[in-house]
Amino acid sequence: MPTAEDRRKLAEERRAVLEYLALKALADKKNVLQALYDYLVLNESPSKAAEKHGIQKTQLKSTAYQLMSKGRAALVVKLMQLAWPFIMEIEPIVENGYCKACNTVIHTNHAEPHIAVRHQDVIRKTAQEVEKKLRESLAKRKQVVRA
Ligand SMILES: [Zn+2]
Repeated sequence: MPTAEDRRKLAEERRAVLEYLALKALADKKNVLQALYDYLVLNESPSKAAEKHGIQKTQLKSTAYQLMSKGRAALVVKLMQLAWPFIMEIEPIVENGYCKACNTVIHTNHAEPHIAVRHQDVIRKTAQEVEKKLRESLAKRKQVVRA
């Protein structure tokens, strides 16, 4: 049986993974997310996944490494599988070099650090929404299995 401590740690990892994925989506890095999905969930080679989505293989590998440091591997993959539609529907706040949250011009390369530093609240809120949708979809799925 998992202890309260196990459950707390799992919840913390889940939140950290979802916040990391939410940050990428908020920064309008859907192509990076797609490459991560192909690489980590569909087990494509990093060079093939990177090429398909127009990013550098080294960028994909370092992003995957950062994501995997947020939680245990099985949890990361499971969350990506289950939460994917909710991650992909996240509305970016930095788009075309402009931050809609604070009405500031932001170079695309600075989108992520900007959001991470200035809009931690948006990241947290977005990750919480994804978690809520995930819980609801899992509850619905259980009902279908029981019916
Ligand atoms: Zn901003």
